[in-house]
Amino acid sequence: MLKNLILVLNCGSSSLKFSVINPKNEKKYLFGTVERLFLSDTYVTWESKKNKYKKNIGSNISHEQALDFVIDHIFLLEEKILKNIVGIGHRVVHGGKKIKNSILINDKIINLIEEASIFAPLHNPANLIGIKKILQKYPILSKKNVAVFDTSFYQNMPKVSFLYAIPYDFFKKYGIRRYGAHGISHCYILHKTAFLLQKSFNQLNIITCHLGNGASVSAIRNGICVDTSMGLTPLEGLVMGTRSGDIDPSIIFFMYKQLNMSIHQIEELLIKKSGLLGLSGISSDFRYLEKNYNINEKAKIAVDIFCHRISKYISAYTSLMHGRLDAIIFTGGIGENVPFIRSIIISKLSLLGFFIHSEKNLLICNGKTGNINIKTSRPIFIIPTNEDLAISRETINIISLV
Ligand code: ADP
Repeated sequence: MLKNLILVLNCGSSSLKFSVINPKNEKKYLFGTVERLFLSDTYVTWESKKNKYKKNIGSNISHEQALDFVIDHIFLLEEKILKNIVGIGHRVVHGGKKIKNSILINDKIINLIEEASIFAPLHNPANLIGIKKILQKYPILSKKNVAVFDTSFYQNMPKVSFLYAIPYDFFKKYGIRRYGAHGISHCYILHKTAFLLQKSFNQLNIITCHLGNGASVSAIRNGICVDTSMGLTPLEGLVMGTRSGDIDPSIIFFMYKQLNMSIHQIEELLIKKSGLLGLSGISSDFRYLEKNYNINEKAKIAVDIFCHRISKYISAYTSLMHGRLDAIIFTGGIGENVPFIRSIIISKLSLLGFFIHSEKNLLICNGKTGNINIKTSRPIFIIPTNEDLAISRETINIISLV
């Protein structure tokens, strides 16, 4: 019998993901994605117990129109859903200076999320559209909307990790610091690793690698994140699909002064035209890069730099573990599905006691969970991330507190 379902909404910059979760057995009753918002041929794919569906819903579709379709058509087809939703969890990328934890949404929180948009201009405004639309469509559930933030996981990082070496006032007055991103995923992985190792999460020292289009590494000591590769914004750190990750800031001055590029052009270059796409000159998609690794020099160098940077971060983060590292974990589209990347990265970490098991590495893909290390190695796990489930757990926690 259906009862007490949680709706999880992830209203992103160019897509909208939704899922309806039964918190009792933590299974998804229904889930889907609207893709190509604001482009031609916007379409929705969704899956329920009954079937899988795909439907074109027009062109130049906005977030609001997409949500109308999801609620008025998909949820109505599954008419039991609406009656049984007891809480709604909204993914919000940035909590800014003031919001530390998941929180019940009200006007004040909406204003604070709006304020934090300066740090996540592509994401927070889209997240807010979802929140406002749901409040308008379901006034009866207005006190059951919870915002879950990617930045919360990093709130307890020490100052040595989150401060930049620029005059202190920039932190004090303007909140410029490392905020991190992908926190919901890294936090989910922490708890799942604790379950797999049969330990309490706050006894764990682990390094988690979320490798997708966006990519980040986090160092977690005694269950608390003590450093992470993303910074003020998700541009810092690893090489990503189209983002540069770490560069010498002087490159920006060079582009501006010597190449007469505008700040807008430089921003666009570093966010949308760099990373794997910029280096390979062809694609940000790992499926393509993997196929061409041995035949295209640029594809090879792009992948090699991607791996080099990850192993460099992992090695650096071992120095924060106070002498004990329980596991390295890979997740995200690339981490979960590309054995050849995992084997390149781990091959650079033998000094730290990590050795891959070739057959297990090939087997654990496509949504499977498991370890891929040989017996004499420290543990290396593959864990598919499940941000929706993490959001639904937080939502249940918060709404049952009120
Ligand atoms: P995000 O959520 O950050 O948009 P994902 O976690 O979905 O990204 O990861 C997208 C990346 O994962 C892409 O580079 C894609 O090519 C890669 N990827 C996903 N599945 C596979 C696969 N089976 N084989 C190779 N690469 C894959």
